[in-house]
Amino acid sequence: MDLEAAKVRVQEEVDRRADLLLEVSHRIHGHPELVFEERFAADLLASALGTEAGIYGLDTAFEARTGSGDGPTVAVICEYDALPGIGHGCGHNVIAAAGLGAGLAAATLAEEAGGRLVVLGTPAEEGGGGKVLMGERGAFDGIDAALMVHPGGADLTEPDVIAIATWRVEYFGRGAHAAAAPHHGRNALDAMVLGYNAVAALRQHIAATDRIHGVFLEAGEKPNIVPDHTVAEWYVRSATIETLQPLKDRVLACLEAGAAAAGCRIEVQPTCAEYTDLRTNAPLVDRYRANSAALGRPVADPSASNRAVVSTDMGNVSYLVPSIHPMIAVSPPDVALHTAEFARWAASEEGDKAVIDGAKAMAMTVLDLWLAPGLAEEVRAAFGSGP
Ligand SMILES: [Zn+2]
Ligand SMILES: [Zn+2]
Repeated sequence: MDLEAAKVRVQEEVDRRADLLLEVSHRIHGHPELVFEERFAADLLASALGTEAGIYGLDTAFEARTGSGDGPTVAVICEYDALPGIGHGCGHNVIAAAGLGAGLAAATLAEEAGGRLVVLGTPAEEGGGGKVLMGERGAFDGIDAALMVHPGGADLTEPDVIAIATWRVEYFGRGAHAAAAPHHGRNALDAMVLGYNAVAALRQHIAATDRIHGVFLEAGEKPNIVPDHTVAEWYVRSATIETLQPLKDRVLACLEAGAAAAGCRIEVQPTCAEYTDLRTNAPLVDRYRANSAALGRPVADPSASNRAVVSTDMGNVSYLVPSIHPMIAVSPPDVALHTAEFARWAASEEGDKAVIDGAKAMAMTVLDLWLAPGLAEEVRAAFGSGP
């Protein structure tokens, strides 16, 4: 099978489905659902792929397999969860529709090309770690490469993906009347504030690539009641999963210091699996870049002035199998992800164009993996040699 001819055909297969893909993108956009509650989106995508949602112990995950040859097995990843208050401010409707398009189009050529394809619906990227859970439950076993595209403000080979740990932090003190018997009280708000301030002091002495941010969720009821219970949420991020570990210890020491000073007890619970950094597979992203450029959409390497710093559970996938997570432009570069403004761009004409181009560029990259001599081995070798 001629690779270049196959790439022309797969683009036609995407174009043939353009109406469906854009309808799916807009319907998901108009019906935003939070982590693990993506019933509407998962059902819509799964039924378009001829399957049903509900696999790997997750109601809103899905998997659609095609092909029976002994060529490489390629996974195309869909995300479809939204954010509280701002809907699709991360543009996952674009990821979902582009993944669907790549999957449907490449599937039409799978038998002929002798390759296998899996479209994976991965819920709860925004703080649920759907891909981590699916990975633990075997979703990536036997996969030779995994691809997805993420919308953003520029076409980039990858975002700067940094590792993250997320914690719910609770302080337990002793309640008292703040005027009548303050000496009986142990103030859980003081503990939380002192912990916060200790972290603020720590920030001067951490790497420029580290990020620490916390918010207070429960901080007391009334000034004349000494708060006996407070709750904060903290995110700790660092360049890699390796550099994250010592940073976590230092942040934890700060939060515990607040508890010690105020005579309170502290409990720290992870709210989600830790996300790792992303190991972009170089030979694979080179193919994606060439395919995207052929569509008139050149892809740049991230630079100091043109980058996106994020965390994603696709990082964890990249530790399991060779992976790429390029960014595809839907907005001007100065529009930030996770804003209401970005949500509008995700359903704009540019967003629609990214759905079609993203589907084509991924489907063409699937064909490269199936048909380009030596590429699958090159991709495997690059994975083995680490980042
Ligand atoms: Zn996001
Ligand atoms: Zn996202």
